[in-house]
Amino acid sequence: MSTIRSMTVTDDTIAAIATPIGIGGIGIIKISGPKATEIATQIFRPRNVSLPFKSHHLYYGEVVDPQGSYAIDEALLSFMAKPRSYTREDVVEINCHGGYLVLREILELILKAGARLAEPGEFTKRAFINGRIDLTQAEAVVDLIESKTSLSLKYASSQLKGIISQEINALKRELVEMLSILEASIDFPEEDLEVATPSHLISQTDHLISRVEKLLSTYNEGRLYREGVSTIIAGKPNVGKSSLFNALLGEERTIVTPVPGTTRDFIEEIINIKGIPLKIIDTAGLRDPADRIEEEGVRITKDKLDQADLIILVIDSSVKLDEQDEALLSTLRGKRTVVAYNKIDLPRKASLEKTPRGLSGVQVVLISALYKTGIEELKEAIVSLLITHARSLPSCPIISNLRHKLILEKVLALTQSVREGLQKNIPHEFTASDIQAALNSLGEITGHTTPEDILDQIFSRFCIGK
Ligand code: GDP
Repeated sequence: MSTIRSMTVTDDTIAAIATPIGIGGIGIIKISGPKATEIATQIFRPRNVSLPFKSHHLYYGEVVDPQGSYAIDEALLSFMAKPRSYTREDVVEINCHGGYLVLREILELILKAGARLAEPGEFTKRAFINGRIDLTQAEAVVDLIESKTSLSLKYASSQLKGIISQEINALKRELVEMLSILEASIDFPEEDLEVATPSHLISQTDHLISRVEKLLSTYNEGRLYREGVSTIIAGKPNVGKSSLFNALLGEERTIVTPVPGTTRDFIEEIINIKGIPLKIIDTAGLRDPADRIEEEGVRITKDKLDQADLIILVIDSSVKLDEQDEALLSTLRGKRTVVAYNKIDLPRKASLEKTPRGLSGVQVVLISALYKTGIEELKEAIVSLLITHARSLPSCPIISNLRHKLILEKVLALTQSVREGLQKNIPHEFTASDIQAALNSLGEITGHTTPEDILDQIFSRFCIGK
């Protein structure tokens, strides 16, 4: 298996535009590698100062084409000498004007002067290869960029600071300690090593198992913060789904219409509900289709209902419940659902008795989407369905990445097998090999033993210039 240890640090110099393509106030080009300052010297003329560039200094000057000797743009250049840089290599950043052509021309000059165009995520990959960050921290960079709410941002930021790595390293230390005790008893079987008593090792394993389980138990919530909660606003046409969608969104994004069955498109929006990103899909209602387009909407809705993490079922409280409402209510079992009785500003005709009260995972709220009453209660009901433990940041590690979860499940199975081995007193060699396997698996989380194809897959998720 090829691992990170076999990865050689490339000695070429890479460059890329780090800001989004388009027109902006400023644009940034990054250069990293041994030739960074040599290239910068060729294409940049600082004003009123002499070269060489000093580390961690900012220079004002002009980017010039060395061939034509004409200035392309005025710019600010910063230089960070290795190892005190993002990649732990020499890094030069050029801040110029944010026009697409300006950035392209400067990048081309840099490439002509000897740099290679960076691959997506290559700067972060170098930071990882050069040991500045581990793999969980590199993954946190993407999560940070893609954060949907300020709470998701805080979790990503604490992962970037190394909170997951610290927990994984603590688990590793426990495993290494157990391994050394076992190996001592394998090497010196006749010596009566007191620490190696099975009961001591078993209790150590129990501690390890509960720590891994605790970390694994954070995944369901961690995933919600990172990926968002796929949410369906379901209900018959005209009950007020679009109005509720807009009330939650805080502004008018969809066209709300009094004609039944005209919200035809699926609109996905991220709504921040007390820090939890809700990916809301506004649906076309669930009644029997009257026309083709609506039929399509209904079909997709039913498919999506099964995949959703959360359902907000809207019922018009100003009319009597009919068979369709009841049919919808009866499908709630096993789904996290908030039943929102809407239009409470009007006299109530719907009987709330039909709501499956007491069913776990179902909350009932009374709202008026039109007058925005009960919206806060609705948000609280959503949070109480999704979040079971209040966590304190940033001291508590929380995993949100499926890759981490799958590896931890493997580690859990291995430590359980270690426990069984100790209990049944099987030869210590077998137990030691399970511990070694668990250690290797943990190393895959932090990147020490991660196969290279997985690393490539992880870094390919990055954008160019990161
Ligand atoms: P949808 O088809 O389920 O998306 O329903 P809409 O959001 O388009 O709303 C249908 C009609 O009900 C519109 O005329 C809304 O103004 C009205 N409506 C929505 N919510 C309320 C409410 O809380 N009170 C009252 N009185 N009317 C509402």
